[in-house]
Amino acid sequence: MGDDYVKVRVQLEQMKDAEKEGADTEEQQQQLPGSSPPHASVSPDPSSVTIAGSDASSTSITCKQRGKSRGKPGKDDKNSCGKHLQDLSLHGSAHAGKNLNRLGHERTLHIRGTGKILQGKSETNGNYVSIHPSKNIQEVKLANKRRPVTVDTAKAKTSLEALKISIKQLKWKEFPLGRRAACDIYWHGVSFHDNENIVSGQVNKFPGMIEMLRKINMSRAVRTMQELFPEEYDFYPRSWILPEEYQQFSTQIRMVKENDATVNPTFIVKPDGGSQGDGIYLIRDPSDLKIMAGSQAKQGVVQEYIHKPLLIDKLKFDIRLYVLIKSLEPLEIYIAKEGLTRFCTEPYQEPSQKNLSHVFMHLTNYSLNVHSGNFVHSDSQNTGSKRTLSSVLYRLAAKGVDIKKVWSDIIALVIKTVIAVVPELKVYYQAEIPPGKPGPTCFQILGFDILLMKNLKPVLLEVNSNPSMRIEHEQEVAPGVYEYVPSPVDKEVKVGVIRDTLRLMDPAHRKPSVSQPRAAGFEHGEEIPLEAEIQERSPDEAALPSLCLKQVYPKYTKQFNYLRLVERIAALFIRFLGVKGNMRLGPTAFRTFIRTCKLSNSNFTMASVDILYIDITRRWSGSTPDSREAGMGLQAFVEAFFHLAARRFKSLQMREQVAALLDLCEAQLESQSGVEDRRSVSCSRALPRANKTQSLGLTNPQLNSPAPLRRAASQDYRLHQRLKPRSLRANVEN
Ligand code: ADP
Repeated sequence: MGDDYVKVRVQLEQMKDAEKEGADTEEQQQQLPGSSPPHASVSPDPSSVTIAGSDASSTSITCKQRGKSRGKPGKDDKNSCGKHLQDLSLHGSAHAGKNLNRLGHERTLHIRGTGKILQGKSETNGNYVSIHPSKNIQEVKLANKRRPVTVDTAKAKTSLEALKISIKQLKWKEFPLGRRAACDIYWHGVSFHDNENIVSGQVNKFPGMIEMLRKINMSRAVRTMQELFPEEYDFYPRSWILPEEYQQFSTQIRMVKENDATVNPTFIVKPDGGSQGDGIYLIRDPSDLKIMAGSQAKQGVVQEYIHKPLLIDKLKFDIRLYVLIKSLEPLEIYIAKEGLTRFCTEPYQEPSQKNLSHVFMHLTNYSLNVHSGNFVHSDSQNTGSKRTLSSVLYRLAAKGVDIKKVWSDIIALVIKTVIAVVPELKVYYQAEIPPGKPGPTCFQILGFDILLMKNLKPVLLEVNSNPSMRIEHEQEVAPGVYEYVPSPVDKEVKVGVIRDTLRLMDPAHRKPSVSQPRAAGFEHGEEIPLEAEIQERSPDEAALPSLCLKQVYPKYTKQFNYLRLVERIAALFIRFLGVKGNMRLGPTAFRTFIRTCKLSNSNFTMASVDILYIDITRRWSGSTPDSREAGMGLQAFVEAFFHLAARRFKSLQMREQVAALLDLCEAQLESQSGVEDRRSVSCSRALPRANKTQSLGLTNPQLNSPAPLRRAASQDYRLHQRLKPRSLRANVEN
């Protein structure tokens, strides 16, 4: 080179303009969703380096370099070319930049899919361009701007405002009217089915979540866990399902009252599909329920009323906690460090016949209390009828309450509740997205409603599959006239939850998480340790606050894994379902299960198996609206499994019976897969392994835990049993 200088001309503005224009074009929309960030690949053509990226018009770079610095790119390179390398790397990678830094003569860089051509000098080595690392890699990496994550917000409904703000903060790309090409993330306001036929990307709802979290299903799922682990699941008030358990409820309460005349419990009746306090009422006697609901009693639950709640300013309040289920398999749960507390608007008194109908005293629902004259809208986070959770916890801490323990109990409650609902969710999931069918992956933000008792024990009231993400509240602007006005408290909490959920779901960060289960407890307000996947923060992320979502599972696997027995039953159930999309086991499939697991013998013949099947399915049919279809659903199968376990292992306690039967079934299946494997290998050595496992029904990696994992769960269970009874009340402090 004659001149000892480097001169780079980058038509940056042109590139930027082209990028702006191109962002919305259909060509760009055709780009594969979730495709990896732009990367450089070396073209075999000595004169070109191809970089994958977004579409735009062409741009050229001319880069002349000092002869001296050719082999050793340094400061000068950085000064002269560095900035432009960063600009270039808007569309390319660090490597492409490096290559350009070593250019010895004119080269062109084609940016794949963009039509952009970058020209410069390069040094060739035979038939391809050599790419060398240099000091500049860090800067180039930092400036490496990937294609923005695309979010379809067309169905976001009331979460739209908070979602828009979040997307803006992340500098992602919103498609408010949807998009013909696929998006990375679909944000649904109601259910998985808000958009049909999504075949890729991620949807913020799980199939079946709404059904699963309805009051009846939720009560059933928790009750199953209460049968196995009564002490661990004592955070859920005693509940009876209506109308089928009315008699039971009535008899039990009568007996309690007869035994002790001073006992006068109160119950809360909740319609199955209800929300926002609709249709809820309190009763003191089972006969009131009959009178109030009539002979055609509606589906719902009647529940023990927690009559001694913790009060602040003499008011009852509850906690709304946001929980992210990031994945079902492996199970990943995050909890928002900040939540809301919703206050009643009439001072609390223990229930009496006189005050039973005072909704502003007994029900904490915002939607009800906002219509009370006493509702206080406040821009401050620690006053008013809706406050942040942290403000309440700090207030309690100031009074000497051990909030670490409260927070730890809340986290234990959340993990245990999720463990209770996951088995059925997996059944819904495999029915909706059977193995082999293209489909999105799912995540979901849930709203946990939790009441603190006077003794500070948290009680689960319910879990909302669609917690309100509105960041405005209703305000009476004139007598009887309500309008939505911005709510700083809601904004503070909800935008954080949505934004950080998106950050965790960023397709560029989707790697198996490397979280270390930890034996010790944790502190409320403790800084969230950066997850491995978030550590590689892009420059945009670096500008964001640290995550407000804290991983609690698999982090606390050790403390809670032993509870996942029903999930193992669900894995057996799913395995024998057979037909894709099925959610119910037919009589033949049930027989196959019994035979395959070798559960029949001379004392328990196949005829008895058929009778058991008919007995249980008949009892379950019609018990919930969606169990009308023929066949055995998961909950009925679990009952059958408990029955089989009790028959087989009479001398053991219930949960040991179930664990023993699970071990036995899993061992049978494993040994048979081995036999099948060996058989198919000898029959056809050419058969690919995937096909063999498919024929054994082991194809869905989402739903069938591999054998080592199952063994681990089983070992956890046994270990826990040995540690009993002290560690029975497993919480995150253990
Ligand atoms: P909804 O879905 O209609 O809001 P919830 O189950 O959340 O139904 O109940 C509404 C409100 O009733 C709760 O916010 C809480 O204040 C009160 N509540 C519900 N269950 C109980 C209970 N078992 N004990 C005391 N209060 C309860």
